[in-house]
Amino acid sequence: MELKTFPQGIHPSDSKELTKELPVNNMPVPKKVIIPLSQHIGASATCIVQVGDFVKTGQKIGDAAGFISANIHSSITGKVIKIDECNTPGGRRSKCVVIEGDGKDDWIEYKKQENLDLLSAKDIKNIIHEMGIVGMGGATFPTSVKLSPPEDKVIDSLIINSAECEPYLTCDYRLMIERTMDTIKGIKIMMKVLDIDRAFIGIESNKMGAYNTYRKMLDGDKSIKPVLLQTKYPQGAEKSLIKAILNREVPSCGLPMDVGVVVHNTGTVLAVYEAVVKGKPLIERVVTVTGYGIRQPQNLLVRLGVSFEEVINQCGGFIDKPGKVINGGPMMGIAQWDITVPVIKGTSGILVIPAEAVIEYYENPCIRCAKCVDVCPQFLIPSELAKYSKKYNWDACDDYGVFDCVECGSCSFVCPSKINIVQYIKMAKNEINMRKRR
Ligand code: SF4
Ligand code: SF4
Repeated sequence: MELKTFPQGIHPSDSKELTKELPVNNMPVPKKVIIPLSQHIGASATCIVQVGDFVKTGQKIGDAAGFISANIHSSITGKVIKIDECNTPGGRRSKCVVIEGDGKDDWIEYKKQENLDLLSAKDIKNIIHEMGIVGMGGATFPTSVKLSPPEDKVIDSLIINSAECEPYLTCDYRLMIERTMDTIKGIKIMMKVLDIDRAFIGIESNKMGAYNTYRKMLDGDKSIKPVLLQTKYPQGAEKSLIKAILNREVPSCGLPMDVGVVVHNTGTVLAVYEAVVKGKPLIERVVTVTGYGIRQPQNLLVRLGVSFEEVINQCGGFIDKPGKVINGGPMMGIAQWDITVPVIKGTSGILVIPAEAVIEYYENPCIRCAKCVDVCPQFLIPSELAKYSKKYNWDACDDYGVFDCVECGSCSFVCPSKINIVQYIKMAKNEINMRKRR
């Protein structure tokens, strides 16, 4: 069978064996949660509760503040005991609502809607917005906004990013296997909103179980097509996925909608299904807790706001002193210095790397081997971007296409001189963005 893919990229070990075959377990409702008002791309939500307020599970506690923002809901029932700045796993501090549970888990009732024919596209988008749904692959872009392309953009395809190309992570794979029909219903909801009649589910060849399950469940449905992709990193980057499945190239500094495509992740389609059909706000998610430094790796359904520490303890704790705890996977994840940070909407994994596997490297000069150029899926010259970023030459970084970088880290992965190229690129992007805002 032909496996579709994109040019270049890398082949790190997928390391999914620790959790791939483990069904999702439910973590008990936590006694306390710390819920950041900024868990998404865009403006932080506005806090609408006060210390001393009593809140139910699913109750809105933060109002989206602007077009690109998302509502925030309480993940437990209890009392607001503090509203303060806290660390988040994204590396930034955010205003957080701290809630102490009363052990009841009393849910707010929202309207359930089984019959989609009774809803317009606008109704559905309103529900998705109300329920605080954002991209759950890590990008956390508000989903209702992504489902609202400008009128001058003609969208003909929806692609579901089911590649899960980050090593170690298996939360999406488990959803594909265990919640197949619900994810299909979520895709149908998105297709209705976008008013299109075709969708593709991009699945890497190391997840044949998911591919075969979709093929079986979609038998006779020609509108949604599972597509088998090569297992290659970063297959799940939107631009790589669009190139592999539709052979379309997103223009420099452009978006998928520029080539008629909207891309959403597996976890997001399930969240959309639950919001619309079950009336459930985004207050929990599946997290892959994994790595050779944790006693019992698992795929866990956890309430948002529970601390990494509690989730790790739920999985038997560390085997030994850990070398690194990462929010997400090893390629694009962020190493944590504080494990009291809460699980947020974009936390797809908690990866524990044992101390003996963490090697400290020192950066050597570039030897101009071009390995980084050979693997870059965006056809950039990563060595030049790193060089100019180190020299604070932001104009040159811009000229060399720094904003086309998808921050996949493939260049850093292959660099024999151990230059952390992607960090220099992120630094350049931040600096240029800051200057543009001034
Ligand atoms: S330059 Fe950006 S897109 Fe290219 S390999 Fe490096 S991180 Fe990936
Ligand atoms: S891979 Fe590293 S050493 Fe080779 S050209 Fe790129 S930056 Fe230089």
